[in-house]
Amino acid sequence: MALIVQKYGGTSLGSTERIIAVAEKVMATRAQGHNVVVVVSAMSGETNRLVALAKSVAESPKAREFDVLLATGEQVTISLLSMALSARKCPARSYTGAQVHILTDSAHTKARILEIDDQRIYADLVQGIVVVVAGFQGIDTEGNITTLGRGGSDTTAVALAAALKADECQIYTDVDGVYTTDPRVVSQARRLEKICFEEMLEMASLGSKVLQIRAVEFASKYNVPIRVLSSFKEGPGTLIAPEDETMEKALISGIAFNRDEAKLTLLGVPDKPGIAYHILGQIADANIEVDMIIQNIGADGTTDFTFTVHHNDYKKALDILHDIAKELGVREVQGDVSIVKISLVGVGMRSHAGIASTMFKALADEGINIQMISTSEIKISVVVHEKYLELGVRALHAAFNLDKAAI
Ligand code: ADP
Ligand code: ASP
Ligand code: MG
Repeated sequence: MALIVQKYGGTSLGSTERIIAVAEKVMATRAQGHNVVVVVSAMSGETNRLVALAKSVAESPKAREFDVLLATGEQVTISLLSMALSARKCPARSYTGAQVHILTDSAHTKARILEIDDQRIYADLVQGIVVVVAGFQGIDTEGNITTLGRGGSDTTAVALAAALKADECQIYTDVDGVYTTDPRVVSQARRLEKICFEEMLEMASLGSKVLQIRAVEFASKYNVPIRVLSSFKEGPGTLIAPEDETMEKALISGIAFNRDEAKLTLLGVPDKPGIAYHILGQIADANIEVDMIIQNIGADGTTDFTFTVHHNDYKKALDILHDIAKELGVREVQGDVSIVKISLVGVGMRSHAGIASTMFKALADEGINIQMISTSEIKISVVVHEKYLELGVRALHAAFNLDKAAI
């Protein structure tokens, strides 16, 4: 008998028929003799609807109240799924995050899980009860409801699997695994049998929203194998686990992209010590995260300075730069929201040269201009105009033969 944590995403719970179908899947797992803990997201579209409701009553809603509202989406699905299970003679009990003491820090809308009370869950499991837990939410030490950031139900599931020492954490979604790139963008994208934590972490942090980054961080830290599966069709899915020799020997495992960044440039910045700190220090003080940074070599005592931030922080960052520009006598401030970041990810890059040149050639052959480049041990990212997103990703997918498995 194994202990399995199953997480079902929004599309898997998009209607009452779908909720019944999920109940049947849970019952089938239980019929194999396993203990099951189920984590659910809100019904598809529900969290977006709640966000829009909040924005229609307040321009920037108070984060504490925003979380109280957002957490209601998952309360609907835990109860409906538990009802559907009980009605089919499968004992089940629903729990909100607070009820199973998913203790988080107080960073509303992006809280981190600190601790989970496994005792209450075990008490049900030993009686053969299916435990249904609301994803995406927790409670802080003051008793305030918190949420874990968009896509946070993945993290609830992995954190529960870690706390309960589950045998496997299954993430059921609308695709039948992790693909070489988003199958909605490239139809030739190929399902991966296995991908290691490190690569999945890069894919997630570079924009592949199939799993929340923190879920992968948790899985890697506590060594919880994750399997991404479709709730619509049977199949082996994709196993996300520590790197081992049975994994594909591909140079590149996948291509991630991110449409959520914006680019800011200061032209003609004085070229002297302390300038980068002066600019980015003020950006950091405003709690804005910076991703890529480029500073050109100076000429005539000035230089150009470019960096990217999340779309949501773009206006705020631009205002700060205008103030800095006045203060430092900068020639011009430029902003550009029409960009995307495309990244190649693969542990094979560690030991192979020439990947960057193949990448740049593939983009050049399509006439795609590269605006920024950044590299690390297992990834290369470029920023290009957003109109080239699909063309660029497809060209790279073909250039690295990602539609065919490496042996
Ligand atoms: P859920 O609601 O089940 O959490 P998500 O929408 O969060 O589902 O994640 C699944 C989606 O992730 C897929 O529909 C797919 O478009 C997208 N996706 C992005 N990159 C990938 C990838 N490399 N492999 C599979 N799916 C991906
Ligand atoms: N319902 C939340 C969201 O839409 C959490 C999740 O689905 O994982 O982001
Ligand atoms: Mg998701």
